[in-house]
This record gives sequence, structure tokens and C-alpha cells, in this order.
Amino acid sequence: MKAIAVLTSGGDAPGMNAGIRATVRTALTGGLSVFGVKRGYQGLIEDDLFSMTSTDVSNILQRGGTILHSARSEEFKTVEGRIKAAENLNKRNIDGLVVFGGDGSFRGANDLQREHGIRVVGVPATIDNDIWGSDFTIGFDTAVNTALEAIDKVRDTAAAHDRLFIVEVMGRHAGFIALEVGIGAGAEEILIPETVTKIPDICKKLQSRYEKGRTSSILVVAEGDEEGNAYEIARKIETHSGMKSRVTVLGHVQRGGSPTASDRMLATKLGYAAVKALLDDAAPCMVGVENGSISRHPLADAWTRRKELDKLLVQLSYGLE
Ligand code: ADP
Repeated sequence: MKAIAVLTSGGDAPGMNAGIRATVRTALTGGLSVFGVKRGYQGLIEDDLFSMTSTDVSNILQRGGTILHSARSEEFKTVEGRIKAAENLNKRNIDGLVVFGGDGSFRGANDLQREHGIRVVGVPATIDNDIWGSDFTIGFDTAVNTALEAIDKVRDTAAAHDRLFIVEVMGRHAGFIALEVGIGAGAEEILIPETVTKIPDICKKLQSRYEKGRTSSILVVAEGDEEGNAYEIARKIETHSGMKSRVTVLGHVQRGGSPTASDRMLATKLGYAAVKALLDDAAPCMVGVENGSISRHPLADAWTRRKELDKLLVQLSYGLE
């Protein structure tokens, strides 16, 4: 292997830059040339590649977002789109590709290797943490800390006005963010897609706490809870019990910001691990960190296996009354 490329795809995550930096510098140290691809697979199709040097990744470790930009590409889901992408890699003699993203991006990477023999390594980077094969994904820790900081502030105003607040965090299919944020913020209730939400039970628990002297409450809800988003939950609680609430949707704030120390370490380890996997001829695979050690798994594990929530955290989410 002489040349590799790196891209970031799907939803951006804080720490992607730290991962790009580690990938580029590990590759250069290993004697490889490195190309950056702008705007994920769409940039690969449109030939938006540039040769990268060590200084291209100076002073990015601490920055949120991704210097390579990210995008979604419908065209890459087609055979024709992937032919164009492979041509752009082949004409530069690039035979390895590092993809930072989620399971959708890994599916695309897998197709590229199967159809065109480009060796691909997936690096789990999504704030949702919903990828099997790595204890944590790049960006999750930062998103949790960002949401916690915001909820601590919401708590102040909730307490001052004796209010019920319903705070929605990201997580369309998984409650990893809501679970950790809810526990870290001391939320009275945590609503996630993996557990059954019963509105009457929640109302009963809230009311019983008020009877015992509690004057304000915070509910943390994952956007993908089966009872609906924060606005729908608020409406259902009011319909059932008459309790009024305020809704705060944290939204894309959770995607931004400087990565935490944990995310910088994780991204640096995984960027390094991705290049090592290419040099060891272990592609196609995804790299992860499990129990403190670097691991490699087939890319397909990312979409065929479901990562479970930490059982103790789920138990704790039912409330420390
Ligand atoms: P994530 O990687 O965060 O899960 P997406 O699911 O949006 O994000 O996927 C990112 C990109 O990966 C898509 O825009 C598309 O180009 C590519 N991709 C997703 N799913 C597939 C698939 N089944 N086959 C080929 N490419 C895919």
C-alpha cells in the first residue's frame, strides 16, 4: 500500500478532526501518502480530493466539526456513483480508505471494497454511540457533556419558577445520550426508545414527588422515544394530568464544540488504529476500543448487531428517589 484517503461522512461529531489528524500523521510516519476527501462520499464522486501534509492537520485537534466537511450522498448508494468514486481513487493509485462515520457510512465503504477492491476501514464517529464493536463512538462524550451543561442551566430556571421542564436530546433510534445525560443531570424521569414509556405512571410519580415537597422536575427524553418527541410528551402529560410544562430541544448544539479529553483520546487511538489495520492488511474492517484495547470487527457487525445499553445505567434511570 502506497497511498490512502480519509473522509468524514454522515452526521458530524466532535473529535472527527482529532481522528483525521491521527490518521494523516500515522500514515505519513508509515511512509504512505495521504489524500483528504471533502464532503464525504459526494466529494469522492465529484473528485474533491487533495494531497495532505502534516501541517494540514496542525491546530485542529481541539476543534469541533470536521475540516474535511461531511455530507450525505444518495448517488453513492448507486452502483454508478461508486464506479465514479472508485475511478477517482484508482487514478491516484489510492488503495486504502479510512471512513469516519456511522453504520450508513460503513455500508457504503463495504460496497466500495466488494465492488472495486478498495481496502476500507470504518472508524465509529457519531454522537449517538449506537455502533456495536466499540464501547464508545467519537463525539458521544462531548455531546453528553454539552447537554449536561445545558440541563444544569435549565435546572436553575426550573427551580426558580417551580416548573416541570421536558428536555429533548438527540437519539433517533437509541437512548445512549438520554440515559447518560439524564442520570448525570439528576433528571426525575428519563424516556428512551429502548424502554416502555407509560405516561400515566410518569404523571403519578411526578405528582407523588410534588406531594413530598419537590417543586420542580426535569424529564429528559430521547428524540426517538416511542411516545413521541418532547412536545408530544408534554401534550400527553398535560392531557392526562393537567400538569403544564416547558419544552427545551437541545438539537444541533449537541453536535458542536471542542471535543472532551475522552473524545480526543478515543479519536487519536482510532485514527492510528485505522491506518494500522490498513498496513496489516486487515481491511475491510471497523476499528473500535473495547475494555481499553483496540479491536477490529467486520464492517457488517455495525449494522447487523445491536449495541445494548448498560444495564446498571438503565436500572438507575428509573430514579434515585
Ligand atoms: P451515518 O454514517 O452517520 O449512519 P448515513 O446513514 O446518512 O450516516 O450515511 C452516510 C452516507 O453513507 C450516505 O449519505 C450514503 O452516501 C452512504 N450510505 C448509507 N447507507 C448506504 C448503503 N446502504 N449503501 C451504500 N451507501 C450507503
